[in-house]
Amino acid sequence: MKHKTIIEPFRIKVVEPINMTTEAQRRAFLKNAHYNPFLLHSSEVIVDLLTDSGTAAMSAAQWGGIMQGDESYAGASSWLKMESAIKDLTGYPYIMPVHQGRAAEHLLYTRIGGKGKVFFSNTHFDTTRANIEFSGATAIDLPVEASKHPDEISPFKGNMDVDKLVEGIEKHGAENTAAVILTVTNNSSGGQPVSMGNAREVAAVCKQYGILFILDACRIAENAWFIKHREDGFEEKTYKQIAQEMFALADGCIMSAKKDAIVNMGGFLALNDLDLAVKCRTVLIITEGYSTYGGLSGRDMEAIAQGLKEVFEPDYLDYRIKSTAYLGEGLHRHGVPVIRPIGGHAVYVDAKAFYPHLPAHEFPGQALSCELYLKGGIRCCEIGSVMFGKYDADGQLIPAEMELVRLAIPRRVYTQSHLDYVIETFEMLMGSRERAHGFKITYEPPFLRHFTARFEPVVGETAINKLEERVAAM
Ligand SMILES: *Cc1c(COP(=O)(O)O)cnc(C)c1O
Repeated sequence: MKHKTIIEPFRIKVVEPINMTTEAQRRAFLKNAHYNPFLLHSSEVIVDLLTDSGTAAMSAAQWGGIMQGDESYAGASSWLKMESAIKDLTGYPYIMPVHQGRAAEHLLYTRIGGKGKVFFSNTHFDTTRANIEFSGATAIDLPVEASKHPDEISPFKGNMDVDKLVEGIEKHGAENTAAVILTVTNNSSGGQPVSMGNAREVAAVCKQYGILFILDACRIAENAWFIKHREDGFEEKTYKQIAQEMFALADGCIMSAKKDAIVNMGGFLALNDLDLAVKCRTVLIITEGYSTYGGLSGRDMEAIAQGLKEVFEPDYLDYRIKSTAYLGEGLHRHGVPVIRPIGGHAVYVDAKAFYPHLPAHEFPGQALSCELYLKGGIRCCEIGSVMFGKYDADGQLIPAEMELVRLAIPRRVYTQSHLDYVIETFEMLMGSRERAHGFKITYEPPFLRHFTARFEPVVGETAINKLEERVAAM
């Protein structure tokens, strides 16, 4: 008999107490945070699934490496270790350390972007889109059709629609196409994987038109797990070999080390082309730091070098992907509408289906993240019209394609019982779905509004009716 229980493939050496709170306390905390979980204090949160970014627990080997961090300004041994780990993994010769992924995006996309340029991606992550648009260029998402159907079971819903890519390049002109960015796994589109076959097709199109092909490789190890288990011809390859094969298809990559390098801070830009690397490196030195530390401490670079090795360990990756699936399948069994199959780093709940009575302009995803916090102290992130909504000329909301709530799982931080608690909290919310109310935005900044926007509950007609019903029933 084989064990059903997925045990965490580590023992816990250091613990961090969780501040347990009551629903009444959380109600006050949430009001103070203007109904935006990003504005909560972490001490007010019980299970923090806001992001898997920079929230990982490091290993004893990483902490050990931290004591050996070489803090020399130039040519530190810690940098040489990080550089060689990245070269070995990616095969790209020019490596630039940065303090996190978006700094790499800024370096590259402001060099190659600008007014009149377009970028194509399976889906641009929010900071990717913001950096591109900030440069004056246009970011166009071309996810495959399957990605738009939360219930459709298909192995690689993170793929890019290659026919649409060719159409887009023909329409805008290859000379105006700054780059094609393949995000693996596709974070904003459900954390779904990208197949090697798709990466090969994208690479071939880029080659044909002479367009730069960049991998947004934040979760390339998790993506490799899916390729090994779902795509023909990869059963015998190691996760690292699969990642290496994908890197070899592209001209460079951006990586936030806060994801699959299992550290709390860091990132890098890696390129094949010397001229482009020199241009980016000049800005790196002006804005981030000298080219052998780029805003990172020596100790950070030690931890990244070690994390990039640990992340490809089969037991780790197996536990990682299966525990995410454990949460997702558990929710599905209780009737919670989730994007399936379950992705790598997060479970995405379809808030539009969970709260069908809430229209997009009342932000059902925001409503669900607030309810989860109130009921269970669980913090998560809306990925819907708050994050991606736009306004038309009359100031009317153009909603996002989907209204999702992302439950992102920090690496090696929570155990199975924490995930059981999350499932239980959803069970409680299922019972009072129709009573949930929507929200309106009372303040928003021009870019990346979801981080700092403020909200107020909308006590609309439906909610008032419900209130009257409840008063009548008292
Ligand atoms: C996190 C992330 C980024 C940005 O990285 P930061 O380290 O948060 O700046 C870019 N792309 C994707 C797909 C990401 O998940």
